[in-house]
Amino acid sequence: MTPAVPSALFADRLRRAGEVAALHDTDLLLVTPGTDLQYLIGAEGSSHERLTCLVLPAAGHRAPPALVVPRLEAPGLAGLPLEELGVEIVTWTDGDDPYLLVSDLAGGPTRIGLVDSMPAAHVIGLRDAFPEVAQELAGPVIRELRMRKDPAEVAELRAAGAAIDRVHARMGEFLKPGRTEKQVGADIAAAILEEGHRQAAFVIVGSGPNGASPHHDVSDRVIESGDVVVIDIGGPLPSGYNSDCTRTYAVGGEPAASVREAYAVLQDAQERAVAAVRPSVTAEQVDAAARQPIRAAGLGERFVHRTGHGIGLDVHEEPYIVGGNELQLEPGMAFSVEPGIYLDGEWGARIEDIVVVTDNGCERLNTRPRDLVVL
Ligand code: ZN
Ligand code: ZN
Ligand code: ZN
Repeated sequence: MTPAVPSALFADRLRRAGEVAALHDTDLLLVTPGTDLQYLIGAEGSSHERLTCLVLPAAGHRAPPALVVPRLEAPGLAGLPLEELGVEIVTWTDGDDPYLLVSDLAGGPTRIGLVDSMPAAHVIGLRDAFPEVAQELAGPVIRELRMRKDPAEVAELRAAGAAIDRVHARMGEFLKPGRTEKQVGADIAAAILEEGHRQAAFVIVGSGPNGASPHHDVSDRVIESGDVVVIDIGGPLPSGYNSDCTRTYAVGGEPAASVREAYAVLQDAQERAVAAVRPSVTAEQVDAAARQPIRAAGLGERFVHRTGHGIGLDVHEEPYIVGGNELQLEPGMAFSVEPGIYLDGEWGARIEDIVVVTDNGCERLNTRPRDLVVL
């Protein structure tokens, strides 16, 4: 656990989380391991049955933040700047009630915010320890911070984008007729690691009819000459910031004219949606910009998902680029623009770039050619 983030940034995030919590009338945030905890203090790892929990009072409450942690896991915190951040470490031993420990530290809150990813066992344990206190999700508080990436975070996302672009640039090495999706996927996963990721978190190789299933994985299907293949790949860098990029390829020769035609519509839709991204435009306006040309071509029913999702320490996070989301975009927001067209039983196509909102538009973090590349 050696955080790449300077401790001054963590101090700032803790302070702002407390301020936003106060604005939301939340007295206390309770943060179990996961990406929210990683964002706030650099602690990696996931939740399990023994409670680890950051107890973070809203601004204006006297108690300092504390990290409740099982005694046997305390040595693992050595790399974190907890002392510098003024976070007290409070250990507990098997047989103690860690939830009562949290309520002792909490100092009489009336509303507590629990991170969205907290396991139900801990949610219920905390409810029993705070019987009179209203529990709510901390997501609306923490997303106010995580949605707006600072320059160091944007730099990480940019590096992740460049790394996954290098994998797409090598696709001709992997994607060939006569190979199974699984074989191709294994090579891609190895390349994702070679190009600097710490994990190949997802590798979608959707060939032929499998391309019509947006979240297809890989299968034993043998890729044939003439197939259209959707390749959607990504994962985290060592810092935890993720890549996510989709390109669609035609394998072994020119695709049918009808494929070319539909693909041109998709490419136009993706361009229009990216062109729509700038501050004060809403998330749903970007979604509409992608949807309109696809609908006009009579393919509206074939675009079966939202246009995009935020990305950062999680592959899917706020802001979601979806109809009904009136959130106004701001500089530093990072998300995917990934319209798709899916013809059940036949083929599918998707084009996905990560973009970051700038002062007057956006920066694309993926720059590989977006046309239907023939391999
Ligand atoms: Zn997806
Ligand atoms: Zn995506
Ligand atoms: Zn993707």
